[in-house]
Amino acid sequence: MSEPAPVVVVGAGLAGCEAAVQLARRGLPVRLLEMKPRVYSPAHSLPGPAELVCSNSLKSDSEDTAHGLLKREIRGLGSVILEAADRTRVPAGTALAVDRKKFTEAMTAILGRFENIVFKQNTEVGTIPEGEVILATGPLTSKELARSLQHRLESDEDLFFYDALAPIIDAESIDNATVFRASRWGRGADYLNCPFTKDEYQAFIKVLRSAPRTEFREFETERYFEGCLPIEVLAERGDDTLAFGPMRPVGLVHEGKRPYAVVQLRSENRINSAYNLVGFQTKLTHAGQREVFRQIPGLRRAEFLRYGAVHRNMYINSPVELTDTLGLRTDPRVRLAGQIVGVEGYVESAAVGLLVGLMTAAVKLGEPVEPPPEETCLGALYKHVRGGFGKKQFEPMNINFGLLPDTGLRGRIKRRKAAGERAEQALEEWMQRLGVMRNDVGADT
Ligand SMILES: Cc1cc2nc3c(=O)[nH]c(=O)nc-3n(C[C@H](O)[C@H](O)[C@H](O)COP(=O)(O)OP(=O)(O)OC[C@H]3O[C@@H](n4cnc5c(N)ncnc54)[C@H](O)[C@@H]3O)c2cc1C
Repeated sequence: MSEPAPVVVVGAGLAGCEAAVQLARRGLPVRLLEMKPRVYSPAHSLPGPAELVCSNSLKSDSEDTAHGLLKREIRGLGSVILEAADRTRVPAGTALAVDRKKFTEAMTAILGRFENIVFKQNTEVGTIPEGEVILATGPLTSKELARSLQHRLESDEDLFFYDALAPIIDAESIDNATVFRASRWGRGADYLNCPFTKDEYQAFIKVLRSAPRTEFREFETERYFEGCLPIEVLAERGDDTLAFGPMRPVGLVHEGKRPYAVVQLRSENRINSAYNLVGFQTKLTHAGQREVFRQIPGLRRAEFLRYGAVHRNMYINSPVELTDTLGLRTDPRVRLAGQIVGVEGYVESAAVGLLVGLMTAAVKLGEPVEPPPEETCLGALYKHVRGGFGKKQFEPMNINFGLLPDTGLRGRIKRRKAAGERAEQALEEWMQRLGVMRNDVGADT
């Protein structure tokens, strides 16, 4: 029998490496194509695969966090990103932080273990290749390939180049005695409103203007939309710019009068377990966001599930453009993996790469394909990518407890523990149903 045609994986980043290894483990031939080191994106600088472009931390490894749970899940599925991370770990408390150079060297060694992976560097792909393809070229996909992808979409407006994200906070950390529920002009009660007096507003503007910011990188300055200016930039335009803009109180009454200003919180999901700060996209550092946004009345104890951001990031409108196995609707043999499908973060990108590798292998081998259960973190990310949270505007998301179904329990510790146990069981059953072997990290060394 002739050898099956290789699956072409474009981009040897976090997602591409995970996808390639999942395919290779199932005996499928893979061509992994990477443009480095001949061509670098503006953020990459190391020659090897799976480069961490900024922080060296893969966030918490502790199972009482959503990042820790996601790691546990993909460890069980044989994540090579976590294998490389475990081998090159540096001390960072409960966070999984690595030596970045050693991390990519470890990944080079891991890829070298698989005879059926042909890893071709210095290969910039300009148009989508023939055959079964996984595009894992990340948020800084090179221009020509981005154009080629755009042409394959149902609408060329479904390829986005910027993130303007408002922070999301845990509903349990909101002080319900201070905020009030209402929509403007009494049209429903969809928002939680944080009311400011004039003094509170003025004090808020002052700390907002002076809080630490992350700088735009050189390659990010090319487009800067008026409609999604960072909140701190708006605050600089005048003392009352925010009170007439995103913090306008019109149509809202609290305790018999109109507040001087408000921050509106909009629910992120049907069970109201997470809220975003409407219009508060920001370039403040994470520490700056904690400092400033905890001064908003009602948010003194705010727990951040996702921080706000404004940065360059290419991703597609996945709920509209992708099929169940994350292939293009217009051309399902071309699957997308990693950050490009609208997840945010190193581990999330790797997890989606792993999942798409698993799904592609199942399709190629004629095995059943079933999405991961929504009780798992992997399933929650998949549900997000498929548009299952019913958000009007699709935007990249980190894993967080707000994406997991309600446990019906009260108390954060209890709820998280129950969600973790439920996730573990659901993953185990899913793997059994699909005949996916538990492949603990490093099992094939
Ligand atoms: C500037 C920046 C900083 C970030 N900082 C963090 C952070 O600190 N923490 C965090 O959790 N997340 C961070 N992220 C978000 C994100 O999680 C990472 O970008 C993550 O690496 C995405 O994984 P990926 O596999 O999808 O893409 P990548 O890891 O970027 O991998 C894509 C690969 O594809 C290659 N490639 C691109 N185009 C082509 C082509 N045409 N042909 C061949 N190869 C190609 C690239 O060279 C690269 O190796 C950051 C993102 C950016 C842009």
